Amino acid sequence: MTHARATAKLVFLDMDGVLNTRESMRRARVENIYPPENPFFYTVDVGCVHRLRDVVVTAGAKLVITSSWRHSGLHPVIHALEWAGWHRPPIIGHTSFDELLRGHQIEAWLKGFDEKVEKYAILDDDADMLPAQEPFFIHVKYGLSAGGFLNEHAERLKELLR
Ligand SMILES: [Mg+2]
Repeated sequence: MTHARATAKLVFLDMDGVLNTRESMRRARVENIYPPENPFFYTVDVGCVHRLRDVVVTAGAKLVITSSWRHSGLHPVIHALEWAGWHRPPIIGHTSFDELLRGHQIEAWLKGFDEKVEKYAILDDDADMLPAQEPFFIHVKYGLSAGGFLNEHAERLKELLR
């Protein structure tokens, strides 16, 4: 008898420079409007969140948070995504703090994950990933000033999760 393992599609998600931008931070400051339950004036760009949500939900993927936001736990991320209109974002965890590079943190997280990973993608405006991760890495280059997660990144993510 065969035992089918659960399979998962994963998105390793950075926040600053991917789901927010200098402009969304400026707007939040001027209007003094922030997502609830967030201790450090974190905010998100609603357009970027919707763009990501549409791809992730369609693909049936799950999120692993790699952002420094994880130092405050997952609640600020969950509240910010809910606030931006993503009801019950499928967040299943965050990477550890043991390793220096995000690439190593992601590698360590994958080693400890007990489902079979069908597809994965990494979204980040920084680029400290490992060579083996390059094919799965979507570099949201200069995201803070260039608008964060844009349509071109969404298209690439769709391809990677297909
Ligand atoms: Mg970042």
